[in-house]
Amino acid sequence: MDTAVVASRPAESSRNTSSGRKRPSRAEAETAVRTLIEWAGDDPDREGLSGTPARVARAYEEFFAGYNEDPVALLATTFEETAAYDEMIVLRDIRLESHCEHHLVPILGRVHVGYLPAGRVVGISKLARVVEAFAKRMQIQETLTAQIADTIQDVLNPRGVGVVIEAAHQCMTTRGIRKPGVSMATSRMLGSFRDDPDTRREFLAMIASPRSNPHES
Ligand SMILES: [Zn+2]
Repeated sequence: MDTAVVASRPAESSRNTSSGRKRPSRAEAETAVRTLIEWAGDDPDREGLSGTPARVARAYEEFFAGYNEDPVALLATTFEETAAYDEMIVLRDIRLESHCEHHLVPILGRVHVGYLPAGRVVGISKLARVVEAFAKRMQIQETLTAQIADTIQDVLNPRGVGVVIEAAHQCMTTRGIRKPGVSMATSRMLGSFRDDPDTRREFLAMIASPRSNPHES
């Protein structure tokens, strides 16, 4: 038995939706997947599909793990007072894996986050976790962009925040109007990132400069 997983996840009976309704059980979720398989035209009892409802339910736990995270708490508990550092902090090319709330298919892309601290900074891994806590939900890109920026602004109270997301939506590339290669860019600028053209320009230049990420070829 995996006690770490049990300990980190609320008991199923206490898991509620964001609107407060009780979540269906795992068994009910698997039955729903079975229905979708049959509705699509296949036989959920054939060998290759017999384990699929359980696998899909587990995949959904990963895709939508953000509902079990509190982004405010992630930031609020970890800030450090650093009056000495008041230059822009930018984390760019954060891998984005989300799902569109209209079709439940992947949104894949990159997130760039910048802020001008006013005494408080957080570890860069915390910024990436805030992105993930909102990304691992059913989203539209515009809302995701705003939620990340607004949360950083509200919790760290910096002089300004900028968030830019570039992403491809598989609901556009694999179905519907089928436009492969199209990506969407959204941004939200707050405080000095919105009001001061120099700050905005510095941020946009930092995220646009040639990639030299040692982890990517
Ligand atoms: Zn969609």
